[in-house]
Amino acid sequence: MTRKVLHIDLDAFFCAVEELHDPSLKGKPFAVGGKSDQRGVVASCSYAARQFGVRSAMPMGQALRLCPELKVIPSRHGQYSAVSKQVMALIDVSPWVERISIDEAFVEVTDLPDSIESIARTLRDRINQTLNLPVSIGAATNKLVAKIANDWGKKQKTGPNPPNTITVIPPGEEAAFLAPLSVQSLWGIGPKSAQKLEGLGIRTIGVLAQTPKETLEALFGRFGPDLRLRALGIDNRPMIVEQIVKSISNEITFAEDLTDEEMLLARFRKLAEKVGQRLRKAALAGTTVQIKLRWSDFTTITRQKTLPSPSNLDHEIFETAALLFRDNYSRGRPVRLIGVGVSNLCPPVRQLSLWDDDQQKEHQLLSAVDELRERYGKDIIRRA
Ligand SMILES: [Mg+2]
Repeated sequence: MTRKVLHIDLDAFFCAVEELHDPSLKGKPFAVGGKSDQRGVVASCSYAARQFGVRSAMPMGQALRLCPELKVIPSRHGQYSAVSKQVMALIDVSPWVERISIDEAFVEVTDLPDSIESIARTLRDRINQTLNLPVSIGAATNKLVAKIANDWGKKQKTGPNPPNTITVIPPGEEAAFLAPLSVQSLWGIGPKSAQKLEGLGIRTIGVLAQTPKETLEALFGRFGPDLRLRALGIDNRPMIVEQIVKSISNEITFAEDLTDEEMLLARFRKLAEKVGQRLRKAALAGTTVQIKLRWSDFTTITRQKTLPSPSNLDHEIFETAALLFRDNYSRGRPVRLIGVGVSNLCPPVRQLSLWDDDQQKEHQLLSAVDELRERYGKDIIRRA
């Protein structure tokens, strides 16, 4: 099946947000970032500033030498995060949204009936009109080509205005589109790899695609064959969707309605144990315990109680569930289904080592994202 993947990237995002705040900036050369006397760098620069050669990640001192009239605006990251959330809400047209950074995301729309081009136009118009922000979109059959198409499309639009452009690579034209581009446009080819390839006279993706497998294996080991596929525009990577678990719960429907209080409590205990186990496996704890009760006539209630501190312990979950059950159970009334859940999840406070581990992972993730964005992005990237 042919996939439909969009790469959505706001144009000079921080600058665009600043222009909303102060419309007099529109069309003027300005940059968001640190001051030159503090060794600051350009986090984002307006398209007017780019006319002078100013670029993202450039030291502010250098930017000011290139463009003495450059206005420098201190970064207001909280503001950009807030607007980013609004953008992400607008592009939420499928369950397959992969957020890459504060101003960039993939959206897979394979399951939507409309053409990829019309979906891209709809999303761009929506962002233009609702938020008054410029955005460029690349559309292709996979993430790799959608991203490169977008970067390429943006570069075609030179001038003082944001590109706000849509670039579509139809199915089957991936390899032909990539062929004339520099090997460095490919994911995974940094300056070092590019140098290696250049040593063999391989400068374009087209030449790379025709390079014998053995040569690439000798150069890049087991990534060699992968590289060749990418050069042909083949990329089967799926969307990486953040799974935000909001609650963990289990329920059971009885084969025959139960009326015996002790038997029901025994079932509650089993459910509490299951929920506790799942929480601990996920290294989570929660502060709210919820029960669900459905009677034989299908009327259903849920009741919840907040714990004094987050827990993932079976007995605490059970005791709270039992309390809620006793408060709401009418003796002799047949019960069809019961459920136990824990929500308001957070890392367990009792297991400090896990928490530290999570933080370390978070740091590793952040540095990886930073590295990627440094190589491929135009703006300095922070994960919000
Ligand atoms: Mg951008």
